[in-house]
Amino acid sequence: MANDNHDEIWVGTLLGGQARWVVARTTDLVEEARRRHHTSPVATAALGRLMTASLLLASSLKGNEFITIRLLGDGPLGGVVAVGNAQGEVRGYVHEPFVDMMLNEQGKLNVAQAVGQGEFAVSKSLENGENYTSTVPLVSGEIAEDLVHYLLNSEQIPSAALLGVLVERDYQVAGAGGLLIQLMPGASEECIDQIEEKLKTLTQGISKIAADSHSMQEMTETLLGGLSYQVLEKRPAGFHCSCSKERVGGTLVSLGREGLKEILEDKQAELVCHFCNEHYLFNEKELSELYEQAGQE
Ligand code: ZN
Repeated sequence: MANDNHDEIWVGTLLGGQARWVVARTTDLVEEARRRHHTSPVATAALGRLMTASLLLASSLKGNEFITIRLLGDGPLGGVVAVGNAQGEVRGYVHEPFVDMMLNEQGKLNVAQAVGQGEFAVSKSLENGENYTSTVPLVSGEIAEDLVHYLLNSEQIPSAALLGVLVERDYQVAGAGGLLIQLMPGASEECIDQIEEKLKTLTQGISKIAADSHSMQEMTETLLGGLSYQVLEKRPAGFHCSCSKERVGGTLVSLGREGLKEILEDKQAELVCHFCNEHYLFNEKELSELYEQAGQE
């Protein structure tokens, strides 16, 4: 492979373990989400940032644990959902993917306005089967600030976050990524100052940094260079949905014979997975089989 640059998540510590950091390159997976959902630029940016945020949070999970973030805003996007797991797999959708907005005063995609006012809800599904949901009000709608606000208020972790998606004129994703720095208990003032100073030097957005970097190493060095950082873990990242025709069929079976009888009258059914926009077609024969199954339950 000539170009070895692909989506990845790197995790490590900096300044002698006073902080934990996560860097994610998500260009390809956000582009895949855009292609699947046919999102407008502002919807691509909102969905891409939220999917990236879910991967940053999921980087501290293990096994088959996963994080769901729901952005419940009253803006034209009508809500955004992303699910990221410990394997670096992520999926997501926007309620209104075709929303078009004017650029904001900085000439950027107006994610905050498209999201609106509302709530930022994070659910953790842990390996022991437990589920925790914590909801905080949206403070900006730009998502990175909302993530920081959530971490401070729900998990008492002071942190800094950058999230960005660069959309080209042809609507394709040129670059996407995220950075999360979380302070460890007992981090010194000097450590905080150094991180703040470093972040101030990043005059380009993280999406541009993701687009211009030729490798994860280069991206990480641009974001963290000078903070004496250590890389502890690298994992691949990608768009992945757990749906299948079998699972969708299972959903139909759960409607029971009553519900399936109505569907059978149409002789076929097409079901769409919200998360990945995959279309599943069931013909009359398949629907009859599901009807039989439903009777046995
Ligand atoms: Zn799916």
